[in-house]
Order: sequence, then structure tokens, then C-alpha cells
Amino acid sequence: MSEVRCPKDGSLMVLRTAKRGPYIGRQFYVCSYPGCSEIISYDVQNYIEALGDEQWDVRRAAAMGLGEVGPGAMAGVPSLMDALRDERWDVRRAAAMALGEIGPDAWAAVPGLIEALEDEDVRGAATTALGEIGHGAMAAVPSLIRVLQDEDARGAAAASLGKFGAAAWPAVPGLINALEDRRWDVRRAAATTLAEIGPAAAAAVPALIEPLRDERWDVRRAAAVALGRIGRDAIAAVPALNEALSSDRDEAVRRAAAAALKRIWESGEDDSGSE
Ligand SMILES: [Zn+2]
Repeated sequence: MSEVRCPKDGSLMVLRTAKRGPYIGRQFYVCSYPGCSEIISYDVQNYIEALGDEQWDVRRAAAMGLGEVGPGAMAGVPSLMDALRDERWDVRRAAAMALGEIGPDAWAAVPGLIEALEDEDVRGAATTALGEIGHGAMAAVPSLIRVLQDEDARGAAAASLGKFGAAAWPAVPGLINALEDRRWDVRRAAATTLAEIGPAAAAAVPALIEPLRDERWDVRRAAAVALGRIGRDAIAAVPALNEALSSDRDEAVRRAAAAALKRIWESGEDDSGSE
């Protein structure tokens, strides 16, 4: 293996074996610069080097390996960012997935992932990854809203937008459309994200009434939860929620309808609107 340099200060890193603690026997590269605490696990360093391999399947396996390490593979973020521009689409897609599995610490890859949304083969994986990065990926919200128009990545976009909470409110019109998608998982993801947006999703109230009669129980439940989270502005849905409460065949839906009705009444009484 070639020499390993600290990603923070460029100093030489030396291989050490943990002598105690939970990682006893495991090997790590430790920065030689006094006071620098940068550590890279031996596995992660191996994967980083393998991302530069000539063979595409080795590069893809390396990206997947970093994804399996997850949040501990932060040192691999710069190399995975390069891999987003690999000539092979399956390497690019594996890199996007790995960045999502690393999660919030992969924030530096957000611009590259937004760019990857234009790459048809990678769009779904990049969409999911931006959601997994969460608040550090806030700049991606307008791009994710555009992905809602892509039939193949719509469900992933609807789900990812939910990770931004109320800040995803500009997505409400696109999510209203997605409530009518022919795929139930897309309808459910749209309703679930409208619930995360909460009172700012009030414009979706009329569109959430129909899904209370969806053929899928989990879509019906998600619609009831969303109406409850919207709160007092969902007052127009009260008759439909009462009907779900009294006659839905699924207990989980009846319970969600009861909870939603309670939230709508309580938010009507309490002007703070915090619930
Ligand atoms: Zn260092």
C-alpha cells in the first residue's frame, strides 16, 4: 500500500493496531502530526485506494464497501465524490449510494450529488443519498422537487423531501400530484412527507381526502396522519376522517383517524399551533 496522507493536514499517517478498547486488534492509520486526532481504519483506506483501480468491478466493490462501513467511512468522501464522475454508471451509482450510507458527514458531496441528479442512471441513488445527508443537503430541495416529475425517481424524491421537514414546503404542489401516482409506495411516500411538512402543507388538504379511501391500508393511514399533522387547516377533512374512524376495515387506519381528529380539534383550540 502506498503512503497514506492525513486528509486534514497532509501529514504522513502511520499504521497502528488498537491494543485495548472496543476495537482491540483492529488496524488504523493515525496522523503523525502532533495534536491531530485524524484516524482512518485500515479497511476504509483499502477501499479508498481500490476506488482508483483500473477494473470497474473493483471500483464498484470498493464503493459498496465504503457504504457498508457507513458513517465511519467519512475519510472516503472525497474519493467517492470523484467516483460520481466514473465512466461506468454502476460505479457512479454505487458511489452515490455509499455517500447516502455515510449520511450527514457526507455533506461535502452535496454539490456533486445535485449534479448527479441529471445522470439518469444515478438519479434515484443520488436522490436517496441527499435525503440521508439531511439538513446539510438543504440546497438540494429545489432539485429534488424537479425529480418529482420523473416517474422512475418520484418515490425516492418524495421520501427524501420528508427529511427536510417544514423546509420542504415548496414541494407541496409536486407531492399533491404524487398522491395520485399509480404506485402505492409513491402515494404513501407523498402522504408521509406531507405529514413531515406539517401545517405548511395545508394546501394539500383537499388532495388528502381521496387517499383516505385508497386500496392500500398504509396509504390510508399515511393520509390520516398527514391531515392530523396539518392540524386546524385540515378541518374540511373532518367528515372523511370520521367516516374512516367508524368504518375503515383496518384498525391501524381507524386509530390514525382518531389521532388525527384529536390533533385537528386541539390545534383549533390552541392558537400556538405547535402540534
Ligand atoms: Zn492530521
